[in-house]
Parts: sequence; structure tokens; C-alpha cells
Amino acid sequence: MPETRDLLDLTDEELDCWLKERGYPRYRRDQILAWVFDRLVTDFEDMTNVPRPMRSDLSQSFHIACSKVVAVRKSADDAASKLLILLEDGQKIETVIMRYRYGISACVSSQVGCKIGCAFCASGASGFVRDLTAGEMVGQVLAANRSLGSDERVSSIVVMGMGEPLDNFDALVKFMELIHDSDRTGIGYRRITVSTSGLVPKILELASLRLPVTLAVSLHAPDDLLRNRLVPLNRVYPVSTLIEAAGQYAETTGRRVTFEYALIRRVNDSDECARSLARLIKGMLCHVNLIPLNPVSGIALERSDRVQAFHDLLQNEGIDVTIRRELGIDIDAACGQLRRRHAEP
Ligand code: SF4
Repeated sequence: MPETRDLLDLTDEELDCWLKERGYPRYRRDQILAWVFDRLVTDFEDMTNVPRPMRSDLSQSFHIACSKVVAVRKSADDAASKLLILLEDGQKIETVIMRYRYGISACVSSQVGCKIGCAFCASGASGFVRDLTAGEMVGQVLAANRSLGSDERVSSIVVMGMGEPLDNFDALVKFMELIHDSDRTGIGYRRITVSTSGLVPKILELASLRLPVTLAVSLHAPDDLLRNRLVPLNRVYPVSTLIEAAGQYAETTGRRVTFEYALIRRVNDSDECARSLARLIKGMLCHVNLIPLNPVSGIALERSDRVQAFHDLLQNEGIDVTIRRELGIDIDAACGQLRRRHAEP
């Protein structure tokens, strides 16, 4: 690991403490944050209103995470692009930028690899390496901003990239506090979505913080038999417990929970699955997002050809349901795919 600290991982108090120890005035904090978060500089030497000796002091003490983007892939329609980012310890992570009518969203990774091992996922197939720090998550948002034009900025965040965010809980919460801060990116909690494969105790812990953050539960199956196969964590926290926790989250925060459901041909796309799903979540403050599965090389699961039929059946059952707009199928947009490709010889 690097000898310098990541400036992006610092709270205001930590930064103030560093300034005070060295006898620098407090207002330097605002200058530094403006350079990093507004002007998006990654080299302390570029902070021209900061005295030269202080710039060199900064470079000797800190680095800025996620300054090195080693590959970029853009979708043909320009609606999505994926950044492969080199971390200070040589690990690589992915961040996806998606353009919507309402703004630009960044899909942020929370871990290098993942412990959960979902059947359809490239990240899970590569195993777990380490948690990301809050600073490395903030750094992904800044890397996304740097890759956009000067008049564009990320306006919403989905923590849905590589990793299980709730398995890295403290860093996740710190990340959300940092990007919410108006001297940093000022992204409102309502514009943040956190996804989970179903870590029930952490869902309840997140609910207890009462942040108006949207929870997206990767459900993918309406019963334990099927979900055990697709999301192995289900053996620890079965469907009924997960749905109860999701309901509690919605009640405590007042936020509508999203159930993500990746439709896989002849696995979870039958009419019976749709009816069971409707029975399971009826009456809850929630919405279902159907995802046409992105094919992953080396994983023998196919995308469903029944997406519209599944959607219509849920809708007829009175469930609020959408089909996720397909972004970036041509850029390895399913999490972990670009990283895997770059790891291959
Ligand atoms: S889908 Fe998410 S939780 Fe499941 S293995 Fe992939 S990264 Fe981990």
C-alpha cells in the first residue's frame, strides 16, 4: 500500500487536524477541496493559489485515489461508458457512467472482487480481494467527472458495481457522507441507490440510520429453492427474512425499495415465477426492475426471451414494474467483465 494517505478519504475534521498540526490556516481546506472537487485536479502542484511549500507538503503527505484510468470503453450510442481504474496497490476496479434523461449516473464499485458468488456474475466468479476505502469510492465519482465534458457532472450514484456494498458497511456510509457534503460533490442522499444481495442485518442497520437512500435488493428469484442456486447468500438469509427486512427498510425510511430481477431463460422467467413474486411483495412500498441478463463469457446462462410477458404479468397483478433500459451491452457492462478481460493474458 502507498505511504501517503488518500486525501479523498479524509473528513473535514481530519483535514483540519492535518492543517493545524502544520500551522496552516483553516481556509486552506476550502481551497484544497475546491481544487479537488470542482477543478478536478489530481496533482497538488496544480493548486496555484496554494503556496509552493504547502503544495510540496501536500504531495509528501497525500495522494488522490483513482487518478489513473487505464481503459475506457464507450457504448456505440454514447449512453454508457466504462472506466477501468488502477488503484495505488495495483488492483483494478470498474466504474460505469450512464446517461439518462434526468442526468448522469455513476455506478460505483465497493470492493475488489466479491465474496457472494452470484451464479450470473463476473465479479463473483473472480473471487474476493479486498474492500475499497470510502476515498476510493469517492475517487470513482471524480474519475467519472473528469471523463465527462467540463460542463457535465455526475448527479446520481448507484453503488451497484463490483462488490457487495453492505459487506463494506462503514466505508459505504462514510462514502455517502462525503459525497453528500456540499463542499465536495453535494449529491443528495435521495440521489443515491445502494444495492444488496441480501445481507439482512446490514439492511436493518442501514435503515436505522434513516438516510433517505434508495435500497435496491437483488432478488432474482421468488423462492428459496431457486434463489439458493442464484444467490448463495440466500442459504443464510432466506427470501422471507429478506422481504421482511426490505419492508422494514421502506417503512423506516419512507423510501420505495427496488427489487432487481435479472431474467434468465428457463431459470426464473416463467409465469409461475412472476405470480409467486407478485404474491411475495404485494402491498409493499416497492417497485420491480426487470433486467435482461447481460451475457457473461464463461457463464452458461442465457438472457430470457420473456421479458415483456413477465413484465405484463406483474403489472396485471398490480405490481409497479419497469424493464431496465439496456445500457452498454457492447461495453461489457455487467459488473466485473472489463476487469476480467484486462486480467486475461
Ligand atoms: S452480483 Fe453483486 S453481490 Fe452478486 S457476486 Fe456479483 S458483485 Fe457480488
